[in-house]
Amino acid sequence: MIVGGGPVGLTAAALLAHHGVSCLLLEADGTWCEGSRAICLSRRSQEILGWVGADRPMIAKGLPWVGGRSYFRDREVLHFEMPSEATERFAPMINIQQYYIEQYAHAAALGAAAGVGAGHGAGAVDVRWSTRACAVRAHSSGVDVDIQTHDGMTHCVHTDWLIACDGGRSTVREQMGLQLEGIQYEGRYVIVDIEQDTRRKVERLAWFDPPSNPGSTILMHRQPDNIWRIDYQVADHEDPVQAVKPDNVLPRVRAHLEMIGETAPWKPLWISIYNAKCLTLQGYRHGRVLFAGDAAHLVPIFGVRGLNSGLDDAGNLAWKLALVLQGHAGDALLDSYSSERVRATRENIAFGAKSTEFMAPPHEGFALMREAALRLALVVPSVRSLINPRQSSPVEYTDSPLNQSDHGDAFGGSARAGMPAPEAKLQMPQGQGHLTEFYGSAFVALYFSNHPRLPVSLRRVAEAAPPCAGFSGAGSLRLIRVATRGTTDARTVVDDLGQAWQRYDARESTLYLVRPDGYVMGRWRDAESADIDMALKRALRNGKP
Ligand SMILES: Cc1cc2nc3c(=O)[nH]c(=O)nc-3n(C[C@H](O)[C@H](O)[C@H](O)COP(=O)(O)OP(=O)(O)OC[C@H]3O[C@@H](n4cnc5c(N)ncnc54)[C@H](O)[C@@H]3O)c2cc1C
Repeated sequence: MIVGGGPVGLTAAALLAHHGVSCLLLEADGTWCEGSRAICLSRRSQEILGWVGADRPMIAKGLPWVGGRSYFRDREVLHFEMPSEATERFAPMINIQQYYIEQYAHAAALGAAAGVGAGHGAGAVDVRWSTRACAVRAHSSGVDVDIQTHDGMTHCVHTDWLIACDGGRSTVREQMGLQLEGIQYEGRYVIVDIEQDTRRKVERLAWFDPPSNPGSTILMHRQPDNIWRIDYQVADHEDPVQAVKPDNVLPRVRAHLEMIGETAPWKPLWISIYNAKCLTLQGYRHGRVLFAGDAAHLVPIFGVRGLNSGLDDAGNLAWKLALVLQGHAGDALLDSYSSERVRATRENIAFGAKSTEFMAPPHEGFALMREAALRLALVVPSVRSLINPRQSSPVEYTDSPLNQSDHGDAFGGSARAGMPAPEAKLQMPQGQGHLTEFYGSAFVALYFSNHPRLPVSLRRVAEAAPPCAGFSGAGSLRLIRVATRGTTDARTVVDDLGQAWQRYDARESTLYLVRPDGYVMGRWRDAESADIDMALKRALRNGKP
């Protein structure tokens, strides 16, 4: 059972169905969210949603962007660009409203259950809207959940496993007697979404102490449907109730739009107030209850790591839970979900805290330092890196218990065990494609070789791997030969641009084992089939020998 049908719960449901697991999803509201929620979706999130086919509508609707500008008063102090190449599958970031993400994840959950984009044996997803989990009693063999349906009736439902995706005010967390730990910032931001027709380039825009709103910090993001997100800092002495009153909000927005020369008619859609929090549970697995998304952690919106990290939780958890439920792995595998994702949250909190303190300095000393950095950045280009906002990027699991011995001495490059497997553009049987299209279902063995025949022993390991519902007709290990020349076939891709061989520092017979969520698990220069066999068995036992 999944409690909470926000973006994380709906994505988890879609991924579970894709991996052959049926689930019941309870959502207290009657439909997808509305109002000002997440808008910036990272490349990694687009990849995860791509595992269940939700990337296509997302890309059709979303607005891609690669960089942004910061201004101190009325002068530009920074123009940054995130790493990106013309050959990438996804833009480093797209802007799209959270209600669309929920809609597409929901459609993917129903589609995966119906077999669209998934393999044989996809699971069924039963989404119950207007249904709230009220009480939770966890025990060693499962969880009893009291649910209230839309007609006010209460029922008790037993589930073997429960994923709590019920957001920042999680009922499941409260019922289990667990608490988020960390800090909450004092600084407040008014979040305004307005509708205005504009041709302005899509980029992240920030103003520190702008003439339109002296003393404040303002962020702007363009969204689809001619909607703009404008966030501005509220002065410490301002009453938060007064701060969101249209009479106070609209003149500030008007002044800012006038300052930047946006003269088209506009109207406000939603106004809310936000303050940043850096909070997490200490562990995301509590017996048969697993926490994901905002129910597990709350990170500042600055740096856009909230939803993006929640989708990574879902991507990390779904394949592990599927393997456990299908009897291919011991439940200790789920402990690695907790340790990997808690580590990720700590990193996200560290970056999010830095961004928050820069956006809304927590004390006078910090405000002075920030002003000094901004003034200096006007004239000294090397200082500009200090004011560069680091946007969300995939976290490394370099101390994961699933990592196999890395043979780091034999390799250059960054594709170490525990790192996101690098992307590469390739020739595939169906035309041009990307290596990441192979991830998201099964383990993948990338065998770098120009010999047309795969070694028989490797083929046998792949054939002996346990079945995996999310991958039509194949086992839980998919073997792919990456050649630099020749022709493609069902098991061969051609690295005609040389990106894969270079990024994986490959030589003839180099082999990489990649987890179903696209992280490198191990690498070998001359792998024996026994290496792969052992690596898989260890992974399924959560790294235990
Ligand atoms: C203004 C703003 C801007 C943001 N911008 C970004 C951004 O650009 N990028 C980014 O990555 N993140 C951003 N975030 C954060 C992002 O919105 C959250 O991290 C994200 O919504 C978390 O998703 P979730 O599914 O975990 O939780 P939620 O979206 O909170 O969903 C939880 C769901 O559970 C349901 N629920 C709650 N209790 C129960 C119950 N007892 N029974 C059944 N259902 C229940 C709720 O109705 C809700 O639908 C932003 C947040 C805000 C407020």
